[in-house]
Amino acid sequence: MNKGLYVHIPFCLQKCKYCDFVSFTGCDYVEYIDSLCRELDVWKGEQVDTVFIGGGTPTVLPAKLIDKIFSHINKTFKIISGAEWTVEANPKTVDSEKLSLMRSLGVNRISLGVQSFNDSELKRIGRVHNAKDAAETLNLIAKYFDNYNIDIISALPDQTYESFIKTLKTAIRFNPTHISCYSLILEEGTPLYNEHIVSPLNLPDEDTERNMYNRMLDILELNGYNQYEISNFAKAGFECKHNIKYWQCNDYIGAGVAAHSLINATRNENTKSLSEYISGNYSKEKIDLTYSDEISEYIIMSFRLRKGLNEKAFFERFEIDFYSEYKAIIDRFIDMGLIEKTSTGYKLTLEGISVSNSVLCEFV
Ligand code: SF4
Repeated sequence: MNKGLYVHIPFCLQKCKYCDFVSFTGCDYVEYIDSLCRELDVWKGEQVDTVFIGGGTPTVLPAKLIDKIFSHINKTFKIISGAEWTVEANPKTVDSEKLSLMRSLGVNRISLGVQSFNDSELKRIGRVHNAKDAAETLNLIAKYFDNYNIDIISALPDQTYESFIKTLKTAIRFNPTHISCYSLILEEGTPLYNEHIVSPLNLPDEDTERNMYNRMLDILELNGYNQYEISNFAKAGFECKHNIKYWQCNDYIGAGVAAHSLINATRNENTKSLSEYISGNYSKEKIDLTYSDEISEYIIMSFRLRKGLNEKAFFERFEIDFYSEYKAIIDRFIDMGLIEKTSTGYKLTLEGISVSNSVLCEFV
């Protein structure tokens, strides 16, 4: 099976208040890109069928460096015909030159981090753009790409049910092929988390959050977006092939600071230090997954997908009958209405999704 390729570009215009991704501002990009090219050289001749350039904000790179790193990827890897090639972007970081350059280099999918179309919400979470910037960027992207994702976030501070639904409906009006919606998680150490500790943020309560999620499912379905993963929705045929590799525990190569790889049940984690990475010390830790780690990861990831866990695929991979092995847990969750039987295996119910962490940890 072909691998996927993930390349991390850890730079942003400004750090968002909720962000705990490995991303830096105000750095020299040139040395990083040189080091990244050297790391990628190890994979010379490898065949991949998905490429995902993530960050950070890859599109903060000037056109010259985008050209350099994307051309290097093309030279280094055999990217099969029809491969999906995604680049993450943020409003205010793309222009016609970059978009047409990326398209000419093989990119065929853009994922734009919009998060909200409400200016005060955007300001509250420290986004560098406003709703108008996002709209202008989306209109520009649509001139060059017919396959693009919009990322939004629910449960933001001071967000109401109505303002979330308005953001969702505005996103739909741009006719993206894909919409991702994650709820805000207050990660320890982020400015928003620290604010919350000093004085609790005005976050939507549990009921409001559940109502937002349920209404979102209805609206997206009505507009032709199929929920294929807990937080991901796509028009038919536009599911993100690269992310599906993660959810199916397939092999992928990760390059760049803080990137992970999974190859033959070994996970490699790169250093999170920019200076170490630039000096060529890429790998920080290699972990050989045990058989039981692999099984637990596979179950957890499969249940994130709306089609759920396929018993036949599970047996082919692990030579274990899923139901016999987990009978007590499965029966209990079916009785509680959190898991349901499908024609091919088992999946979370809507109720199960809302408590997915506690359901899935029982399989570990
Ligand atoms: S744009 Fe994304 S990666 Fe960059 S700081 Fe904001 S959330 Fe983090």
